[in-house]
Amino acid sequence: MRVVVVGGGVAGLAAASEAHSLGAEVTLLESSESYLPPKSGWPSLLSGEAQPSPPEKPDHELREYSKMGSLVAEVNVAERTARTSRGPVEYDSIVIATGSTHADPTFRGSGKKNVFIMRGYPDYLRLANEVRGFARVCVTGGGPLSLSIAEKVSSLGAKVLLLSPTGLLGQLSEVVRREVERRAKEAGLVLLRSPLDGVAGVERVEAVVASGSVHASEALIFLPAPRPNPPRLAVEVGLNGGILVDDRMCSSSPAVYAAGDCAEVRLGSTSSSSSPMMYQSAARAMGRVAGANAAGGSAVARLASAASHTFFGYEVSYGGLSPAEGTRLGIRLLEVSTPARGDGLFCSLFFDRASTEIRGMQVAGRGASSYEDAISLIISNGMTLPDLAYQESSFGPLSPTDLSPIALAAKTGLLMRKQS
Ligand SMILES: Cc1cc2nc3c(=O)[nH]c(=O)nc-3n(C[C@H](O)[C@H](O)[C@H](O)COP(=O)(O)OP(=O)(O)OC[C@H]3O[C@@H](n4cnc5c(N)ncnc54)[C@H](O)[C@@H]3O)c2cc1C
Repeated sequence: MRVVVVGGGVAGLAAASEAHSLGAEVTLLESSESYLPPKSGWPSLLSGEAQPSPPEKPDHELREYSKMGSLVAEVNVAERTARTSRGPVEYDSIVIATGSTHADPTFRGSGKKNVFIMRGYPDYLRLANEVRGFARVCVTGGGPLSLSIAEKVSSLGAKVLLLSPTGLLGQLSEVVRREVERRAKEAGLVLLRSPLDGVAGVERVEAVVASGSVHASEALIFLPAPRPNPPRLAVEVGLNGGILVDDRMCSSSPAVYAAGDCAEVRLGSTSSSSSPMMYQSAARAMGRVAGANAAGGSAVARLASAASHTFFGYEVSYGGLSPAEGTRLGIRLLEVSTPARGDGLFCSLFFDRASTEIRGMQVAGRGASSYEDAISLIISNGMTLPDLAYQESSFGPLSPTDLSPIALAAKTGLLMRKQS
């Protein structure tokens, strides 16, 4: 079985490795000349927690089947060939894992000096070299990423203005958001719920304009929103332009699979209920499933879009849908949140009212990141409030004697549902 994987990011490497382990003859086509460090580590270049590393080489069998410098412009689904800059490559099945791209920003003054538009690794390297020279910096765009970047820049001593038109971390519950905002302000960040109108200055950035107000700033860091980036091919796409896939990562064309940021997962029966899941964890899981199936297996992806971050010392682990995402997909979600317990751990569950299935979940506070796997398992296995309300949690000399925050929230959810 000849399996071609297009794109050697998180999803593509996982797909290639999985297909290889199942005995397929794998060719991985990657457009770059060398492997870059994973994107999740790029922001740490700014604070100096990570250093620019020499291009990474995958250390095992990947080296034999990676074809670097092979940009795939088009896939001919009928003839089963991928057209690359180095000629056509034939396949029996193909995994598209070409990640995301960005639309060019359109704000006024975007071409001025000291506007940093963060499209790729070179932009992070350039900013890392220059960021220490600025006393006042404005950051905007990009949800949790903008907050991480604002935190890193602020830790270097700059005064940071964070513009976030929808408010910070819109997908998180109110309590978690308020705590993150409180800590961010305490650390000296100025938060404004305003969109960026433009940049003012003679040649370089001297100020940013937001909702008609002018704010002195020496640099602007702009995080453009990602969108799926598949090569040209004749398969069905979702609302955001990503390759529409089912839970086997199979597209509308039987021998074509897709995984990671370039895919859109069908969550309901129509393409309007599909969503890109742009998380490293989802990309890896999707890649493994796509690779297995492309090699003739029958794997099913259980996706939870789980992520963990520490914002200003506050650990936040979350996964699944937020109520707003639920509404967009036509699923009405109820929220139940328990107050932070003695140990400061807080839990929110977003569940389907009729079935009580947990569709989204957030744990915040000290030790919250240890709940990462639990969050992923609970959501991807469709667990319900009763499944969790009486769940035993381990007891040891060092563990707290009370109920787990998840069981507590689930129990409160059951009561809430009974009363409503
Ligand atoms: C700065 C930053 C920080 C992030 N931090 C986090 C985080 O903390 N946690 C988290 O869960 N997620 C994070 N993400 C999101 C996460 O990195 C992505 O969801 C993940 O990388 C997607 O993996 P992928 O394999 O689909 O795409 P990518 O990792 O983008 O890989 C795509 C690959 O395909 C190649 N390619 C593209 N087009 C072609 C073509 N036509 N032919 C051949 N090759 C091609 C590219 O060169 C690239 O190597 C972050 C993203 C960014 C940008």
